[in-house]
Amino acid sequence: MIVQGTRCGRGVTADTMGNPLASLGARDMLPSIDDLEQYCIFLDLDGTLVEIEDRPDDVRIDPATLRFIERLRDKVGRALALLSGRDIHVIDRLLYPLVLPVAGVHGLQRRDASGRLHSPIIDQSVVDAIATKIEAAFVSEPGVIIERKTGAVAIHFRLRPDFEKRCLALARKIICDRPGLDMIKGKMVCEIRVHGNDKGAVIATFLEERPFKGRRPIFAGDDATDEPGFVTANARDGVSIKIGENPTAAKFRVATILELRNWLDELMAAPREFSAPPKTAGMQ
Ligand SMILES: [Mg+2]
Repeated sequence: MIVQGTRCGRGVTADTMGNPLASLGARDMLPSIDDLEQYCIFLDLDGTLVEIEDRPDDVRIDPATLRFIERLRDKVGRALALLSGRDIHVIDRLLYPLVLPVAGVHGLQRRDASGRLHSPIIDQSVVDAIATKIEAAFVSEPGVIIERKTGAVAIHFRLRPDFEKRCLALARKIICDRPGLDMIKGKMVCEIRVHGNDKGAVIATFLEERPFKGRRPIFAGDDATDEPGFVTANARDGVSIKIGENPTAAKFRVATILELRNWLDELMAAPREFSAPPKTAGMQ
């Protein structure tokens, strides 16, 4: 069960404008949980488990973090999934040799706990043509990074924040007469993506399947694309945790990846008596 507010994180107390974060709708008091085995865990990757790099290809996951994820997964009966904006094959490469249930491209792709892949039918030639068009638009602008994905194209302007307006304008122009495409805005990135599930829908789907079924979700993320996941976690009586600033639907907030890691470590270390996995009417 959750014991509200009994553990105080060294969370953010104010945003960059000096406004108290309470006004942004989340508490910086992480809950104590004394029955972790009744929960399942969903985690974003970049900005949640690992620091964001200027170039997405520069991100690496160190062995200690891999061991941490593995330990956490085992503590919740393997009911742990990663939900990322990256392609599933890229997530697998980063996590190697760990293979987890995952959602890629913000929920467009999903691999369930049995290893089965779920993805809508995608005309990748359309997506690739859009990527080529965007690359041509920024060919003389070093620092604007175009990332090709399955069913999506991401335009990263972290190294060129002065190009934000131009990137957003181009993305809007491309999707305006293409009803099958959405524009997704994240931290210093915008994406054009084939219409499909978001992280909230993906969490709901995982919760229908073993080993997630019958458990309450914990979901942590750092970006606007995680907001639908927070809403679903809240609706399922779970724990939603926003890392960093900006208004959020999450119930709780921490300032840094390390604070989230420390809280999860404390949950794993908390002494508890063994109890059987939760049983629900739908489980066999
Ligand atoms: Mg993230």
